[in-house]
Amino acid sequence: MPLNQDQVLAALRTVKDPELFKDIVTLGMVKQIDINDTAVHVRIELNTPTSKEIIEREARTALMQAGATTIKVETSPAPRAPSPTAGPQRAVLPQVKNIIAVGAGKGGVGKSTLAANIAVGLQRMGATVGLMDGDIYGPSMPTMLGIKGQQPEVRGPKIIPFHVHGIHAVTIGALVEQDKPLIWRGPMAHGAFKQLFSDNTLWPELDYMIVDLPPGTGDVPLTLCQLLPITGAVVVATPQQVALDDAVRAVKMFQQLGAPILGIVENMSYMPLPDGTVADIFGRGGAEKAAQNLNLPFLGALPLYTELRVNSDAGDPTKNFTGNPKLAEALNQIVQNLAGQVSLRNLRAPAPELNII
Ligand code: ADP
Repeated sequence: MPLNQDQVLAALRTVKDPELFKDIVTLGMVKQIDINDTAVHVRIELNTPTSKEIIEREARTALMQAGATTIKVETSPAPRAPSPTAGPQRAVLPQVKNIIAVGAGKGGVGKSTLAANIAVGLQRMGATVGLMDGDIYGPSMPTMLGIKGQQPEVRGPKIIPFHVHGIHAVTIGALVEQDKPLIWRGPMAHGAFKQLFSDNTLWPELDYMIVDLPPGTGDVPLTLCQLLPITGAVVVATPQQVALDDAVRAVKMFQQLGAPILGIVENMSYMPLPDGTVADIFGRGGAEKAAQNLNLPFLGALPLYTELRVNSDAGDPTKNFTGNPKLAEALNQIVQNLAGQVSLRNLRAPAPELNII
């Protein structure tokens, strides 16, 4: 029996977005339907790259049950962007769908490590991703991405981001003298960041831009957050109480700026030992509990892995996803939860606008 559009739509209404818990027709994700007798071709726009497999599988099953014999399900890996009609047109980085700031209450908790691995993880799931290294106090991206000592290509007055490990990256470390401290205050940082990260850089169209903020809640992270129309922020914390107090301050900073918190990541959660047991060094679960108390999403825990430190020092984050499966799983879980939170936020909220420019 030949199928009609209503039957195909009814079948697709049984498929739910795994993060948004609504069906893909109601969410407006079905962009095209072509029917030729019992051959059906549908095109679905995803909210997160991570939902690709499950939505493709369920759509195929639903269409088969409705009587389709030849099925083509095409999905775009693009995440949903904040509604362009909900706010004034963005003046800064309009080609970027989602800007995610990664912050921490203090240095050394693994903020840059997570920023780099979240960027690579999202890219590995099919998204187009940029990484902006704004940690002027200790730009570690040149080392972590394996581009130390390299200069970005320049076209006219503009910088072309590096293209490494599948992501587009700009690092302040490539533009300042190594081993010299940068002493910046708010107004100076404002001008320099604006030029470097938006006016003077040729970013391609991006699904996600991950911004590695300077640690803490001082002038400079504040300035960078105000400058960028951020979709939301991720706060990285280690689980011991003294670190959590700092993390709470970082959360408060984002909240005061009106930036939604997409979630908290617990880094250095514990250390797996060779005999299969774990060493609970900093008090596993502390950041998760803090997230609960603050009523914020918890994005996941990353244990201490020697490989992670070695791969970071060697400039090869891709290896974190292809080597130790437990490490890859912990990172992928964080990436998936984050992508889910971004899509939830975009469903609910209007486009973020600039606070100050
Ligand atoms: P931050 O950006 O917060 O200052 P970094 O990301 O630079 O911190 O991390 C500090 C150091 O700790 C780096 O050498 C990094 O490789 C290491 N590191 C971070 N997280 C882990 C982890 N989960 N396991 C092992 N080493 C880690």
